[in-house]
Amino acid sequence: MAVDVASWHEDASVSADQLRLMKLAMDEAERARGSTGDNPWVGSVIADAEGRIVARGHTQGPGEDHAEIGALREAVAKGVVLSEATLYSTLEPCSFHGRTPACSRVIVDHRPKLVVVGMRDPHPRVDGEGIRIMRAAGVDVVEGILEAEIRMQLGRWVFEHHLHEPVRRAMALLDAHGPTSVVAEIAAIYAVGEEAAERAVREAESHRAARS
Ligand SMILES: [Zn+2]
Repeated sequence: MAVDVASWHEDASVSADQLRLMKLAMDEAERARGSTGDNPWVGSVIADAEGRIVARGHTQGPGEDHAEIGALREAVAKGVVLSEATLYSTLEPCSFHGRTPACSRVIVDHRPKLVVVGMRDPHPRVDGEGIRIMRAAGVDVVEGILEAEIRMQLGRWVFEHHLHEPVRRAMALLDAHGPTSVVAEIAAIYAVGEEAAERAVREAESHRAARS
């Protein structure tokens, strides 16, 4: 997917380095697409103080390393000083111990200088909790970097496993301006086909009908 980093947005608080490195994390994520089972295809890179990549990782199969753990493993093996390093992850690090330990807690154990997150994990058990765990432990976190692009990259996974997110978004669009163009908007936001988008919009419409 082409991302025009230079023209992404005007927010001065987001550095060009953060956009460049998150784009490289997205490239890393792309290497995992199709081989992660029901896990999302996530990419992670670790950069030193000068913005040079010193480690990278992407999600492995179910029960194996998530992207951030792969990157941390490489960084530790290379003797990287993590207290001066920034960890990038396209998706929010997970917050609960499932088939693997919670990435947010493993990151806290390694104490990088900064964690930069692309998109929040729509999993109802995460949805901001991974970020909260890291911040509560004193690790600085920046979120929302290339979020719209990452939502497109992960759109098919979101539709398959967390349809509630596009449904919620469709409901908000229906509330805002009625049904015109909502299917096309949802299809564009998640980079999915109109058929999938229609499924989310139909569900949103039935939720709205039940609400009124
Ligand atoms: Zn994880």
